[in-house]
Amino acid sequence: MSDIIRRDPRAEWIARNRLHPLHAAMQPVQHSWMGPNGVIRKNPHGIGFIGPNGIKRIDRSGAQQGGAAKRTATVEVQLPLHQVAAPAFYIGVVPDMVGGRLSSHDRDLLGLAHQLAGEDGAVLAIVFGEHKENAFSTAGVDRLLVLEGNEFSGYAPEQRVQGLRAVDNQFSPRHWLLPDSRTGGGELGRRFAAAVGERPATRVWQVKDEHCIGRAGAGLQDLARPVARLILAAVECAEPVSDTRHEALPVELSTTVARSLSRIEDLGAVAVDPAAIPMAEAEFIFSGGNGVKDWGLFHRTAEALGATEGASRVAVDDGFMARDRQVGASGTWVTARVYVAVGISGAIQHLQGIGACDKVVAINLDPGCDMIKRADLSVIGESAEMLHALIAAVEAYRNGAKRDAA
Ligand SMILES: Cc1cc2nc3c(=O)[nH]c(=O)nc-3n(C[C@H](O)[C@H](O)[C@H](O)COP(=O)(O)OP(=O)(O)OC[C@H]3O[C@@H](n4cnc5c(N)ncnc54)[C@H](O)[C@@H]3O)c2cc1C
Repeated sequence: MSDIIRRDPRAEWIARNRLHPLHAAMQPVQHSWMGPNGVIRKNPHGIGFIGPNGIKRIDRSGAQQGGAAKRTATVEVQLPLHQVAAPAFYIGVVPDMVGGRLSSHDRDLLGLAHQLAGEDGAVLAIVFGEHKENAFSTAGVDRLLVLEGNEFSGYAPEQRVQGLRAVDNQFSPRHWLLPDSRTGGGELGRRFAAAVGERPATRVWQVKDEHCIGRAGAGLQDLARPVARLILAAVECAEPVSDTRHEALPVELSTTVARSLSRIEDLGAVAVDPAAIPMAEAEFIFSGGNGVKDWGLFHRTAEALGATEGASRVAVDDGFMARDRQVGASGTWVTARVYVAVGISGAIQHLQGIGACDKVVAINLDPGCDMIKRADLSVIGESAEMLHALIAAVEAYRNGAKRDAA
Protein backbone atom coordinates (compact mmCIF):
# COMPACT_ATOMS: atom_id res chain seq x y z
CA MET A 1 0.00 0.00 0.00
CA SER A 2 1.23 3.48 -0.79
CA ASP A 3 2.54 5.68 2.04
CA ILE A 4 0.85 8.79 0.68
CA ILE A 5 -1.49 10.30 3.25
CA ARG A 6 -4.91 10.84 1.70
CA ARG A 7 -7.40 13.05 3.48
CA ASP A 8 -11.15 12.77 3.34
CA PRO A 9 -12.43 16.30 4.08
CA ARG A 10 -16.02 15.08 4.30
CA ALA A 11 -15.19 12.45 6.93
CA GLU A 12 -13.22 15.05 8.87
CA TRP A 13 -16.13 17.45 8.71
CA ILE A 14 -18.53 14.79 10.02
CA ALA A 15 -16.09 13.98 12.84
CA ARG A 16 -16.19 17.65 13.89
CA ASN A 17 -19.96 18.10 13.50
CA ARG A 18 -21.61 16.76 16.66
CA LEU A 19 -25.09 17.05 15.13
CA HIS A 20 -24.32 14.77 12.17
CA PRO A 21 -25.96 11.30 12.41
CA LEU A 22 -22.61 9.60 11.66
CA HIS A 23 -20.63 11.68 14.13
CA ALA A 24 -20.29 8.89 16.74
CA ALA A 25 -19.04 6.39 14.14
CA MET A 26 -16.25 8.78 13.17
CA GLN A 27 -14.77 9.10 16.64
CA PRO A 28 -11.55 7.23 17.35
CA VAL A 29 -12.00 4.45 19.92
CA GLN A 30 -10.35 5.36 23.23
CA HIS A 31 -8.33 2.58 24.78
CA SER A 32 -6.84 4.55 27.65
CA TRP A 33 -7.79 7.73 29.46
CA MET A 34 -7.02 9.59 32.65
CA GLY A 35 -9.40 8.89 35.52
CA PRO A 36 -10.64 11.53 38.02
CA ASN A 37 -7.71 10.82 40.36
CA GLY A 38 -5.10 11.28 37.67
CA VAL A 39 -4.54 7.52 37.23
CA ILE A 40 -4.36 6.25 33.63
CA ARG A 41 -7.16 3.71 32.97
CA LYS A 42 -7.01 1.12 30.19
CA ASN A 43 -9.78 -0.82 28.51
CA PRO A 44 -8.21 -4.26 27.85
CA HIS A 45 -11.23 -5.31 25.74
CA GLY A 46 -10.73 -2.48 23.33
CA ILE A 47 -7.27 -3.64 22.32
CA GLY A 48 -6.81 -5.98 19.38
CA PHE A 49 -9.17 -7.07 16.63
CA ILE A 50 -11.05 -10.20 15.61
CA GLY A 51 -9.19 -12.03 12.83
CA PRO A 52 -10.79 -13.82 9.86
CA ASN A 53 -11.11 -17.07 11.87
CA GLY A 54 -12.86 -15.39 14.78
CA ILE A 55 -9.72 -15.40 16.96
CA LYS A 56 -8.74 -12.21 18.75
CA ARG A 57 -5.40 -10.82 17.55
CA ILE A 58 -3.30 -8.20 19.25
CA ASP A 59 -1.24 -5.94 17.03
CA ARG A 60 1.84 -4.81 18.94
CA SER A 61 2.97 -2.37 16.24
CA GLY A 62 0.93 0.36 17.92
CA ALA A 63 -1.04 1.02 14.75
CA GLN A 64 -4.34 0.26 16.44
CA GLN A 65 -3.61 2.49 19.38
CA GLY A 66 -3.41 5.49 17.14
CA GLY A 67 0.14 5.15 15.76
CA ALA A 68 -0.08 4.54 12.04
CA ALA A 69 -3.86 4.46 12.10
CA LYS A 70 -3.99 8.13 13.04
CA ARG A 71 -2.29 9.02 9.77
CA THR A 72 -5.08 7.72 7.56
CA ALA A 73 -8.11 9.89 7.98
CA THR A 74 -10.12 8.04 5.31
CA VAL A 75 -13.14 6.31 6.82
CA GLU A 76 -15.55 4.24 4.77
CA VAL A 77 -19.02 5.53 5.50
CA GLN A 78 -22.27 3.97 4.37
CA LEU A 79 -24.87 6.71 4.49
CA PRO A 80 -28.55 5.81 5.03
CA LEU A 81 -30.38 5.30 1.72
CA HIS A 82 -33.25 7.71 1.02
CA GLN A 83 -35.77 6.03 -1.28
CA VAL A 84 -38.86 7.43 -2.92
CA ALA A 85 -40.67 4.45 -4.43
CA ALA A 86 -43.60 6.33 -5.95
CA PRO A 87 -42.90 10.06 -6.01
CA ALA A 88 -45.95 12.22 -5.34
CA PHE A 89 -44.28 14.99 -7.37
CA TYR A 90 -40.92 15.95 -8.83
CA ILE A 91 -38.51 18.80 -8.28
CA GLY A 92 -36.60 19.30 -11.53
CA VAL A 93 -32.95 20.36 -11.24
CA VAL A 94 -30.78 21.29 -14.23
CA PRO A 95 -27.17 21.34 -13.00
CA ASP A 96 -24.55 23.29 -14.97
CA MET A 97 -22.16 20.29 -14.95
CA VAL A 98 -19.12 22.46 -15.71
CA GLY A 99 -16.42 20.13 -17.04
CA GLY A 100 -18.91 17.24 -16.96
CA ARG A 101 -19.12 17.21 -13.14
CA LEU A 102 -21.43 18.65 -10.51
CA SER A 103 -20.07 21.98 -9.31
CA SER A 104 -20.48 23.18 -5.73
CA HIS A 105 -23.23 25.50 -7.02
CA ASP A 106 -25.03 22.46 -8.49
CA ARG A 107 -24.74 20.67 -5.14
CA ASP A 108 -26.22 23.65 -3.27
CA LEU A 109 -29.11 23.52 -5.70
CA LEU A 110 -29.68 19.81 -5.07
CA GLY A 111 -29.73 20.62 -1.34
CA LEU A 112 -32.44 23.21 -1.97
CA ALA A 113 -34.35 20.72 -4.14
CA HIS A 114 -34.45 18.31 -1.19
CA GLN A 115 -35.84 20.99 1.06
CA LEU A 116 -38.68 21.46 -1.45
CA ALA A 117 -39.17 17.74 -2.09
CA GLY A 118 -39.67 16.76 1.55
CA GLU A 119 -40.42 13.08 2.14
CA ASP A 120 -42.85 12.45 -0.74
CA GLY A 121 -41.24 14.24 -3.65
CA ALA A 122 -38.29 13.10 -5.75
CA VAL A 123 -35.43 15.18 -7.07
CA LEU A 124 -35.11 14.71 -10.82
CA ALA A 125 -31.80 15.87 -12.30
CA ILE A 126 -31.65 16.60 -16.02
CA VAL A 127 -28.19 16.34 -17.56
CA PHE A 128 -27.34 17.19 -21.18
CA GLY A 129 -24.87 15.11 -23.17
CA GLU A 130 -21.91 13.19 -21.82
CA HIS A 131 -20.79 13.62 -18.22
CA LYS A 132 -18.04 12.29 -15.94
CA GLU A 133 -19.95 12.41 -12.67
CA ASN A 134 -20.29 9.30 -10.53
CA ALA A 135 -21.53 10.86 -7.30
CA PHE A 136 -25.13 11.72 -8.22
CA SER A 137 -26.40 9.45 -5.46
CA THR A 138 -24.49 11.17 -2.64
CA ALA A 139 -25.30 14.62 -4.08
CA GLY A 140 -29.04 13.93 -3.61
CA VAL A 141 -30.35 12.81 -7.02
CA ASP A 142 -33.38 10.47 -6.77
CA ARG A 143 -34.01 10.22 -10.52
CA LEU A 144 -31.54 10.95 -13.31
CA LEU A 145 -32.52 11.84 -16.84
CA VAL A 146 -29.65 12.13 -19.31
CA LEU A 147 -30.57 13.78 -22.60
CA GLU A 148 -27.99 12.39 -24.97
CA GLY A 149 -27.22 13.46 -28.50
CA ASN A 150 -24.90 15.86 -30.28
CA GLU A 151 -27.66 18.40 -30.62
CA PHE A 152 -27.48 19.06 -26.84
CA SER A 153 -23.71 19.34 -26.55
CA GLY A 154 -21.75 22.60 -26.61
CA TYR A 155 -23.64 25.88 -26.61
CA ALA A 156 -27.16 24.84 -27.58
CA PRO A 157 -29.60 26.80 -25.37
CA GLU A 158 -32.49 26.59 -27.83
CA GLN A 159 -32.26 22.82 -28.19
CA ARG A 160 -31.90 22.44 -24.42
CA VAL A 161 -35.05 24.49 -23.89
CA GLN A 162 -36.83 22.02 -26.19
CA GLY A 163 -35.48 19.20 -24.03
CA LEU A 164 -36.72 20.87 -20.84
CA ARG A 165 -40.14 21.44 -22.36
CA ALA A 166 -40.40 17.72 -23.15
CA VAL A 167 -39.42 16.92 -19.53
CA ASP A 168 -41.96 19.46 -18.31
CA ASN A 169 -44.73 17.80 -20.34
CA GLN A 170 -43.91 14.32 -19.06
CA PHE A 171 -42.97 14.86 -15.40
CA SER A 172 -44.69 18.22 -14.64
CA PRO A 173 -42.20 19.13 -11.89
CA ARG A 174 -43.70 21.12 -9.01
CA HIS A 175 -40.60 23.32 -9.11
CA TRP A 176 -37.74 23.83 -11.52
CA LEU A 177 -34.34 24.79 -10.13
CA LEU A 178 -31.44 26.10 -12.22
CA PRO A 179 -28.20 27.71 -11.06
CA ASP A 180 -28.32 31.45 -11.74
CA SER A 181 -24.84 31.34 -13.22
CA ARG A 182 -23.38 33.48 -15.95
CA THR A 183 -22.26 30.60 -18.11
CA GLY A 184 -25.11 28.09 -17.88
CA GLY A 185 -28.34 28.03 -15.94
CA GLY A 186 -28.74 31.80 -15.83
CA GLU A 187 -29.37 32.03 -19.55
CA LEU A 188 -31.04 28.64 -19.98
CA GLY A 189 -33.43 29.33 -17.09
CA ARG A 190 -34.52 32.68 -18.50
CA ARG A 191 -35.01 31.22 -21.98
CA PHE A 192 -37.00 28.33 -20.52
CA ALA A 193 -39.14 30.73 -18.49
CA ALA A 194 -39.92 32.72 -21.64
CA ALA A 195 -40.77 29.53 -23.54
CA VAL A 196 -43.25 28.32 -20.91
CA GLY A 197 -44.55 31.84 -20.23
CA GLU A 198 -43.67 31.95 -16.53
CA ARG A 199 -41.96 34.56 -14.40
CA PRO A 200 -38.91 33.04 -12.71
CA ALA A 201 -37.58 34.01 -9.28
CA THR A 202 -33.98 35.04 -9.95
CA ARG A 203 -30.81 35.27 -7.86
CA VAL A 204 -32.57 33.40 -5.08
CA TRP A 205 -30.40 32.86 -2.04
CA GLN A 206 -33.00 31.54 0.39
CA VAL A 207 -36.30 29.67 0.29
CA LYS A 208 -38.16 29.82 3.59
CA ASP A 209 -41.75 29.89 4.87
CA GLU A 210 -43.23 29.48 1.36
CA HIS A 211 -41.27 32.52 0.17
CA CYS A 212 -38.12 32.85 -1.86
CA ILE A 213 -35.74 35.72 -1.34
CA GLY A 214 -33.63 36.93 -4.22
CA ARG A 215 -31.09 39.70 -4.66
CA ALA A 216 -32.24 42.74 -6.57
CA GLY A 217 -31.37 46.41 -7.03
CA ALA A 218 -27.74 45.83 -8.12
CA GLY A 219 -27.29 43.41 -5.23
CA LEU A 220 -28.29 46.00 -2.61
CA GLN A 221 -31.85 44.86 -1.92
CA ASP A 222 -33.72 41.65 -1.24
CA LEU A 223 -36.89 40.78 -3.06
CA ALA A 224 -39.27 38.34 -1.33
CA ARG A 225 -42.08 36.66 -3.23
CA PRO A 226 -44.15 33.47 -2.87
CA VAL A 227 -42.13 30.45 -4.00
CA ALA A 228 -42.11 30.50 -7.80
CA ARG A 229 -42.32 27.36 -9.93
CA LEU A 230 -39.14 28.36 -11.72
CA ILE A 231 -36.27 29.27 -9.42
CA LEU A 232 -32.87 30.48 -10.56
CA ALA A 233 -30.79 30.12 -7.43
CA ALA A 234 -27.53 31.73 -6.35
CA VAL A 235 -24.48 30.02 -4.86
CA GLU A 236 -25.01 28.85 -1.25
CA CYS A 237 -28.79 28.95 -1.60
CA ALA A 238 -28.92 25.86 0.67
CA GLU A 239 -26.69 23.33 2.40
CA PRO A 240 -25.69 20.53 0.02
CA VAL A 241 -26.99 17.03 0.80
CA SER A 242 -24.47 15.33 3.08
CA ASP A 243 -26.16 12.78 5.31
CA THR A 244 -28.14 10.58 2.94
CA ARG A 245 -27.54 8.44 -0.11
CA HIS A 246 -30.01 8.53 -2.98
CA GLU A 247 -30.98 6.09 -5.69
CA ALA A 248 -30.19 8.17 -8.79
CA LEU A 249 -32.47 5.83 -10.75
CA PRO A 250 -32.21 6.41 -14.51
CA VAL A 251 -35.43 7.56 -16.17
CA GLU A 252 -36.15 8.27 -19.84
CA LEU A 253 -38.32 10.49 -21.94
CA SER A 254 -41.20 8.69 -23.59
CA THR A 255 -41.23 11.12 -26.53
CA THR A 256 -38.47 12.40 -28.79
CA VAL A 257 -37.37 15.98 -28.32
CA ALA A 258 -38.40 18.34 -31.11
CA ARG A 259 -35.53 19.94 -33.06
CA SER A 260 -35.19 23.66 -32.59
CA LEU A 261 -34.43 25.99 -35.49
CA SER A 262 -30.64 26.08 -35.71
CA ARG A 263 -30.27 29.83 -35.35
CA ILE A 264 -27.17 29.36 -33.20
CA GLU A 265 -24.11 27.52 -34.38
CA ASP A 266 -21.44 26.57 -31.83
CA LEU A 267 -18.03 26.90 -33.49
CA GLY A 268 -16.21 25.56 -30.43
CA ALA A 269 -13.99 27.04 -27.79
CA VAL A 270 -11.51 29.76 -28.72
CA ALA A 271 -7.96 29.57 -27.34
CA VAL A 272 -7.21 32.54 -25.10
CA ASP A 273 -4.05 33.74 -23.43
CA PRO A 274 -4.44 32.70 -19.76
CA ALA A 275 -2.44 35.78 -18.71
CA ALA A 276 -5.06 38.03 -20.33
CA ILE A 277 -7.97 36.56 -18.37
CA PRO A 278 -9.07 38.78 -15.45
CA MET A 279 -8.33 37.02 -12.17
CA ALA A 280 -11.98 37.12 -11.06
CA GLU A 281 -13.02 35.16 -14.16
CA ALA A 282 -10.13 32.68 -14.42
CA GLU A 283 -11.12 29.03 -14.12
CA PHE A 284 -7.65 27.66 -13.39
CA ILE A 285 -5.27 29.70 -11.24
CA PHE A 286 -1.68 28.83 -10.42
CA SER A 287 -0.66 30.97 -7.48
CA GLY A 288 2.77 31.52 -5.93
CA GLY A 289 3.81 32.71 -2.48
CA ASN A 290 6.85 33.18 -0.32
CA GLY A 291 7.70 29.48 -0.67
CA VAL A 292 8.48 29.87 -4.40
CA LYS A 293 12.24 30.11 -4.72
CA ASP A 294 12.60 30.01 -8.51
CA TRP A 295 10.15 32.40 -10.20
CA GLY A 296 11.36 31.56 -13.71
CA LEU A 297 10.41 27.96 -13.05
CA PHE A 298 7.06 29.08 -11.60
CA HIS A 299 6.22 31.02 -14.82
CA ARG A 300 7.30 28.07 -17.00
CA THR A 301 5.05 25.72 -15.02
CA ALA A 302 2.05 28.07 -15.28
CA GLU A 303 2.63 28.28 -19.04
CA ALA A 304 2.94 24.50 -19.38
CA LEU A 305 -0.33 24.06 -17.47
CA GLY A 306 -2.10 26.85 -19.39
CA ALA A 307 -3.10 28.44 -16.07
CA THR A 308 -3.66 32.06 -15.06
CA GLU A 309 -1.03 33.26 -12.59
CA GLY A 310 -1.91 34.53 -9.12
CA ALA A 311 0.10 35.44 -6.03
CA SER A 312 0.04 36.00 -2.31
CA ARG A 313 0.59 39.50 -0.94
CA VAL A 314 4.13 38.68 0.15
CA ALA A 315 5.04 37.64 -3.40
CA VAL A 316 3.58 40.91 -4.69
CA ASP A 317 5.21 43.07 -2.01
CA ASP A 318 8.55 41.45 -2.77
CA GLY A 319 8.17 42.48 -6.41
CA PHE A 320 7.92 39.00 -7.95
CA MET A 321 4.39 39.48 -9.24
CA ALA A 322 2.27 42.42 -10.41
CA ARG A 323 -0.19 43.98 -7.94
CA ASP A 324 -3.21 42.98 -10.06
CA ARG A 325 -2.26 39.31 -9.54
CA GLN A 326 -2.73 39.44 -5.76
CA VAL A 327 -5.38 37.05 -4.45
CA GLY A 328 -7.10 37.73 -1.15
CA ALA A 329 -8.94 40.20 1.02
CA SER A 330 -6.98 43.20 -0.25
CA GLY A 331 -6.52 41.72 -3.73
CA THR A 332 -8.98 39.85 -5.96
CA TRP A 333 -11.61 37.40 -4.70
CA VAL A 334 -11.38 34.54 -7.17
CA THR A 335 -13.87 31.83 -8.15
CA ALA A 336 -11.63 29.38 -10.01
CA ARG A 337 -12.64 25.77 -10.44
CA VAL A 338 -9.05 24.78 -9.64
CA TYR A 339 -6.70 26.86 -7.50
CA VAL A 340 -3.12 25.66 -7.06
CA ALA A 341 -1.25 27.35 -4.18
CA VAL A 342 2.52 26.94 -4.33
CA GLY A 343 4.38 27.89 -1.14
CA ILE A 344 1.46 29.87 0.31
CA SER A 345 0.86 29.45 4.03
CA GLY A 346 -2.89 30.17 3.97
CA ALA A 347 -3.19 33.36 6.03
CA ILE A 348 -6.81 34.28 6.71
CA GLN A 349 -6.63 37.24 4.30
CA HIS A 350 -5.53 34.90 1.51
CA LEU A 351 -8.09 32.20 2.33
CA GLN A 352 -10.89 34.79 2.21
CA GLY A 353 -10.03 35.41 -1.42
CA ILE A 354 -10.28 31.75 -2.43
CA GLY A 355 -13.43 30.89 -0.44
CA ALA A 356 -15.46 30.31 -3.60
CA CYS A 357 -12.89 28.12 -5.39
CA ASP A 358 -14.08 24.61 -6.10
CA LYS A 359 -10.91 22.54 -5.75
CA VAL A 360 -7.77 23.75 -4.01
CA VAL A 361 -4.42 22.04 -4.46
CA ALA A 362 -1.59 22.99 -2.09
CA ILE A 363 2.14 22.46 -2.58
CA ASN A 364 3.96 23.23 0.65
CA LEU A 365 6.79 22.06 2.90
CA ASP A 366 4.72 22.42 6.06
CA PRO A 367 2.01 19.74 6.47
CA GLY A 368 0.45 21.71 9.35
CA CYS A 369 -0.10 25.01 7.55
CA ASP A 370 -3.60 26.42 7.02
CA MET A 371 -3.45 26.13 3.23
CA ILE A 372 -2.97 22.36 3.58
CA LYS A 373 -5.99 22.26 5.92
CA ARG A 374 -8.08 24.11 3.32
CA ALA A 375 -6.84 22.07 0.35
CA ASP A 376 -8.68 19.19 -1.30
CA LEU A 377 -5.36 17.74 -2.43
CA SER A 378 -2.01 18.42 -0.77
CA VAL A 379 1.52 17.74 -1.92
CA ILE A 380 4.11 18.03 0.83
CA GLY A 381 7.48 18.89 -0.62
CA GLU A 382 9.94 21.45 -1.88
CA SER A 383 8.30 23.74 -4.44
CA ALA A 384 11.04 23.66 -7.12
CA GLU A 385 11.16 19.86 -7.03
CA MET A 386 7.39 19.65 -7.39
CA LEU A 387 7.27 22.18 -10.24
CA HIS A 388 9.94 20.26 -12.19
CA ALA A 389 7.90 17.08 -11.68
CA LEU A 390 4.71 18.87 -12.80
CA ILE A 391 6.30 20.11 -16.04
CA ALA A 392 7.64 16.61 -16.75
CA ALA A 393 4.20 15.07 -16.10
CA VAL A 394 2.44 17.60 -18.39
CA GLU A 395 4.98 17.00 -21.17
CA ALA A 396 4.69 13.23 -20.84
CA TYR A 397 0.89 13.52 -20.95
CA ARG A 398 0.95 15.77 -24.05
CA ASN A 399 3.49 13.55 -25.87
CA GLY A 400 1.36 10.49 -25.06
CA ALA A 401 -1.75 12.23 -26.41
CA LYS A 402 0.14 13.20 -29.60
CA ARG A 403 1.35 9.60 -30.07
CA ASP A 404 -2.20 8.30 -29.63
CA ALA A 405 -3.49 10.79 -32.20
CA ALA A 406 -0.79 9.86 -34.76
C1 LIG B 1 -4.78 44.09 6.22
C2 LIG B 1 -4.09 42.94 5.57
C3 LIG B 1 -4.52 42.53 4.33
C4 LIG B 1 -3.89 41.46 3.70
N1 LIG B 1 -4.35 41.04 2.48
C5 LIG B 1 -3.79 39.98 1.90
C6 LIG B 1 -4.24 39.52 0.64
O1 LIG B 1 -5.15 40.06 0.03
N2 LIG B 1 -3.63 38.43 0.10
C7 LIG B 1 -2.61 37.78 0.72
O2 LIG B 1 -2.11 36.78 0.18
N3 LIG B 1 -2.13 38.22 1.90
C8 LIG B 1 -2.68 39.31 2.50
N4 LIG B 1 -2.19 39.75 3.68
C9 LIG B 1 -0.94 39.13 4.19
C10 LIG B 1 -1.17 37.82 4.88
O3 LIG B 1 -1.49 38.05 6.23
C11 LIG B 1 0.09 36.94 4.82
O4 LIG B 1 1.17 37.65 5.35
C12 LIG B 1 0.46 36.48 3.42
O5 LIG B 1 -0.66 35.94 2.78
C13 LIG B 1 1.55 35.42 3.50
O6 LIG B 1 1.98 35.10 2.22
P1 LIG B 1 2.69 33.71 1.91
O7 LIG B 1 1.77 32.63 2.33
O8 LIG B 1 3.13 33.74 0.50
O9 LIG B 1 4.00 33.77 2.81
P2 LIG B 1 4.38 33.02 4.14
O10 LIG B 1 3.40 33.27 5.21
O11 LIG B 1 5.80 33.38 4.42
O12 LIG B 1 4.29 31.47 3.78
C14 LIG B 1 5.18 30.81 2.94
C15 LIG B 1 4.77 29.36 2.86
O13 LIG B 1 5.63 28.69 1.97
C16 LIG B 1 6.09 27.48 2.54
N5 LIG B 1 7.41 27.22 1.99
C17 LIG B 1 8.58 27.81 2.32
N6 LIG B 1 9.58 27.34 1.56
C18 LIG B 1 9.03 26.44 0.73
C19 LIG B 1 9.55 25.62 -0.30
N7 LIG B 1 10.84 25.65 -0.64
N8 LIG B 1 8.71 24.79 -0.93
C20 LIG B 1 7.39 24.74 -0.60
N9 LIG B 1 6.85 25.50 0.37
C21 LIG B 1 7.65 26.35 1.02
C22 LIG B 1 6.07 27.69 4.02
O14 LIG B 1 5.87 26.43 4.69
C23 LIG B 1 4.88 28.61 4.19
O15 LIG B 1 3.69 27.86 4.39
C24 LIG B 1 -2.81 40.80 4.33
C25 LIG B 1 -2.41 41.22 5.58
C26 LIG B 1 -3.01 42.27 6.20
C27 LIG B 1 -2.55 42.69 7.54
